[in-house]
Amino acid sequence: MIRIGVYGGSYNPPHTGHVLAAAELVRELKLDRLLIVPAATPPHKTLPAGSPSPEERLSMCEAAFAGIPQAELCDLEIRRPGKSYTVDTLTTLREQYPADELYLIMGTDMLLSFRTWREPERIAKLAKLAVMHRTKDAELWEEVCREADSLKREMQADILTVDNRCISVSSTVVRRLLALGAPWCLEPAVEAMIRQNGWYLCGAELKGLPYDRLREVSLELHDEKRRPHVIGTAETAVKLAELWGADPEAARRAGILHDITKALGKNEQLHLCEKYAMMLTQRQRENPKLLHAKTGAVVAREIFGESEAVVSAIRWHTTGKPGMTTLEKIIYIADYMEPNRSFPGVELLRELVWKDLDAAVYQGIARTVQHLREKGKLVDNNSLEALAYYQNLTERSQPK
Ligand code: FE
Ligand code: FE
Repeated sequence: MIRIGVYGGSYNPPHTGHVLAAAELVRELKLDRLLIVPAATPPHKTLPAGSPSPEERLSMCEAAFAGIPQAELCDLEIRRPGKSYTVDTLTTLREQYPADELYLIMGTDMLLSFRTWREPERIAKLAKLAVMHRTKDAELWEEVCREADSLKREMQADILTVDNRCISVSSTVVRRLLALGAPWCLEPAVEAMIRQNGWYLCGAELKGLPYDRLREVSLELHDEKRRPHVIGTAETAVKLAELWGADPEAARRAGILHDITKALGKNEQLHLCEKYAMMLTQRQRENPKLLHAKTGAVVAREIFGESEAVVSAIRWHTTGKPGMTTLEKIIYIADYMEPNRSFPGVELLRELVWKDLDAAVYQGIARTVQHLREKGKLVDNNSLEALAYYQNLTERSQPK
């Protein structure tokens, strides 16, 4: 009897996180073989348009896991038509390996959604469930233990856990960084394949795209929940540009790109900074929320080839600064009061911005500074200087 791990996924693309986890699984579960099973059509998600074909993902897996002797490619799901249900895969594997031990590898999120899968009871009979977890999140861990206990009771599932001390990275993030010209967490051979084939917009010419295409690419790089906000910012910015005499085309490009790196976490932000040789202060290093304006500006320039006017509007959209250009002010305030934003007083600000742009900017900065102070957070120097500058400007323009 041998021990066989079944490690499925979209592998779109396979990254270093997968490879390190595979090595850990082999070691911890004492696996004789680890089957890497790329899904043809995952049942729970649709792959983004333009993703490599299942066969191409399979060949990336071949390159990625080449260094792990126990790893073995399994094209069962790719050869089977229709959606890739785990229960079908395990049924076939059970027939192939009637006397061996099968371990279905899953993440904590998968265990928590296990009941919604097709025929979970049968899956639990066909294989042991090996849950990879990160011990950092105590609350999640408790939830996982509770769910594991009830699955054991209700389905007689055999569940074991594997400490995953490996890096935290997702294929979505890897794809985004490839498009932004900063490959991340890829085995060199996989990266070379991606580059050669131009997958995931890697090496694509994205400079000077027509607006519709720019919008499409930008939205693909955002999390779904942020998409309405960037669309709202772009549309609001155009209207404000028409009213206040800025270039509406520049306004909508800056609007749609202003949060282009917002979906990236702290480590990925720092990776972009390194890639583009950006100098950072200690505060910026510790506060990735502020970093997205800086990295977004660099990406707008280097990847999308935007004008300096657009680049600097993105650069200053979170903190503001004294003496902003009309476009900078427009992006600052459009980001703040576009139709998807809701906070007490937003309606007043929306009225004010059509009458007095500087006064609206002042209100926006003042509210932000107040909000940060109430939360006990440090306020960026640029914001403080901008606050004083626009307060002064607004007071001076007030009728005596
Ligand atoms: Fe932002
Ligand atoms: Fe924003």
